Amino acid sequence: MKFYYDLHIHSCLSPCGDMDMTPNNLVNMAKLLGFDVIALTDHNSSLNCEAAMKVGEEVGVVVIPGMELTTCEDIHAVCLFPTLEKALKWNDYVDSHRLKIRNKPEIYGRQVIMNELDEETGEVEHLLLPATDISIMSAHSLVKEYGGVCLPAHIDRDSLSILSVLGEIDPMCEFTAAELADKSREEELRRLHPILNNMKIITDSDAHYLENMREPESFIELDELTREKVLDFLDT
Ligand SMILES: [Zn+2]
Ligand SMILES: [Zn+2]
Repeated sequence: MKFYYDLHIHSCLSPCGDMDMTPNNLVNMAKLLGFDVIALTDHNSSLNCEAAMKVGEEVGVVVIPGMELTTCEDIHAVCLFPTLEKALKWNDYVDSHRLKIRNKPEIYGRQVIMNELDEETGEVEHLLLPATDISIMSAHSLVKEYGGVCLPAHIDRDSLSILSVLGEIDPMCEFTAAELADKSREEELRRLHPILNNMKIITDSDAHYLENMREPESFIELDELTREKVLDFLDT
């Protein structure tokens, strides 16, 4: 069966994410657009995943708990987990591996934690955007220790991507999948970077605003839709 996905979406927890990206709004928008499975991937934090997963259960959208990691090289990588528990353990690990610079909400935006009723339950004090001390070379194997999958984000972008920073995807990184922002560039990138021919390529919206969420475009084929099966698909 085909399942439409968007595995890279930000909530109001990301400083650059719109305050309208509440757990209810983003999951319900995904439902309206026709997605079967989404992932919540805030910058260096998974603290809104619980609320989004609860909303997903209510409305019938599978929500994968995730994070968009900033590596020490300033490369973005999407991290996805099979359970909330594992995502939160990874969240704790990342929290102890990032710079603690106090957020200035008036400049960078608020970093709001919400419950499944879209009520504010907290705010992350330290800015979530800066690089962690985790290297892109070790990201995949580290995330795997937490039961998850890690893949380089928006590799076709001119900044904050593995190709813009390193020029190539080193096989030592052991990535099994990569994310494109623009699906139409897949063929060109496969030609320029043959390593991609041995990897799964997915396309996500990286939406920070409700209006950035796209119509479903890409799908994966699975016999049934579970978080584990999506992760297994990406990791083989
Ligand atoms: Zn990014
Ligand atoms: Zn992003």
